[in-house]
Amino acid sequence: MTDTQSYLFYQTRTPRPFLDRGEGIYLYDESGKRYIDASSGAMVSNIGHSNPRVLAKMKAQMDKATFGYRLHFRTHPSEDLAAKTVAMTPDGLDRVFFVSGGSEAVESAVKLARQCALATGQGRRHKVISRYPSYHGCTFGALDLTGYDPLREPFAPMMEGMPKVAAPTTYLDRDALSEEERGIRYAELLRDKIEEAGPDTVLAFLMEPIGGASTGALVAPDSYYTRIREICDAYGVLLIFDEVMSGAGRTGKFLAAEHWGITPDIVALSKGFGAGYAPLGAIIAGARLVEPVLDSGGFQHGFTYAGNPLACAAGLAVLEELENHNLIENAARMGEVLKAKLQALMARYPIIGDVRGKGLLLAFELVADRETMQPLPKDWNAHARLVEIAYDLGLIIYSRRTRGGIEGDHFLICPPLVITEPQIDEIMHLLDTALARYAEEIAALFEE
Ligand code: PMP
Repeated sequence: MTDTQSYLFYQTRTPRPFLDRGEGIYLYDESGKRYIDASSGAMVSNIGHSNPRVLAKMKAQMDKATFGYRLHFRTHPSEDLAAKTVAMTPDGLDRVFFVSGGSEAVESAVKLARQCALATGQGRRHKVISRYPSYHGCTFGALDLTGYDPLREPFAPMMEGMPKVAAPTTYLDRDALSEEERGIRYAELLRDKIEEAGPDTVLAFLMEPIGGASTGALVAPDSYYTRIREICDAYGVLLIFDEVMSGAGRTGKFLAAEHWGITPDIVALSKGFGAGYAPLGAIIAGARLVEPVLDSGGFQHGFTYAGNPLACAAGLAVLEELENHNLIENAARMGEVLKAKLQALMARYPIIGDVRGKGLLLAFELVADRETMQPLPKDWNAHARLVEIAYDLGLIIYSRRTRGGIEGDHFLICPPLVITEPQIDEIMHLLDTALARYAEEIAALFEE
């Protein structure tokens, strides 16, 4: 099979070399070329590739059983993974439901919220407010909650059109407010939206605590998070955190929510939770939400592969790696180092308008003018071009051009949590080379 002969299709025709193998933060193609996986794939491979301890635990489970349907058997891997997940999560989140991916997790969180409302006599509550921009997945329900036009538009008439509020994009604001005041101002948009939608019809507010593919690692001011929690409490609206990307240790805490000491009502996890060893995700919720649903006839929801023993054995081994090797602390420490080095690049590359993020969920944004944060012209396709230059050099980074509300080319730099300081220097060397080449390439365009 060659690049030009394939029966398989994804979003676009992007010919790529065949993957051969992975090792730690590195991937190798079949020609032997080495790549640094500085985006952990799509922010997935949190503990690095081909970890022998995880593979051994998966192999041990494979030798016993790879599948046992959850209605026929309990399994130790699923029970143990649920217990470990609860132990690593803040108090108040103590029931776990397994799925196989992020979109499934988001859909499951919303359906649990809805059934909880029905079970507690609040059947009018059905609207889920989410943010713009945001990304919550590509299945219809999750897409309806996603604030990202290119993905939504083709399917728009086929969705409900759930209400949206602006996500804080404070780095673009040029008003005289303090960070704290800005955070409050953005949070109050949620109150306005709840009032507009009809408070007794609003079921939940869904948000990524730190934007991922949607906003490029955008962190809101601290005041935003605490005020959001207060508003949800005041209106009896459930707060759902989509931690599909930010969870499982990536930001230097197991859940990003922990940075602000707030507890969401439901959390969606995936990506780093299975860390690329198995398709795996989960929702974590408080017993006070789950028990009424179970008492009222059960959760009318569930995917065939949910809680399968092989994926759960992988997930358990991943969480053990995080714990036994202090990888969450490493993410916090290495995140500081990497962020400082990215910030230092700003002195040499005026096209870097912003560096942001927490832990190892980091990003930079390219702009035409740092003062005004004017984006690069759309048809320059900076987000795609810099990624290609880096790829040729053996550096994998992840990019998007955000559209709607704000516009800009951002690049996520999210290496596996096992990264070391010398490996950060390897990333920085290649990134510097890639930026120098790109800056040279666009110099002529700037003059036109
Ligand atoms: N939520 C967030 C925050 C995500 O980043 C993603 C994936 N990029 C999803 C949901 C959807 O996950 P999946 O692609 O596994 O369905």
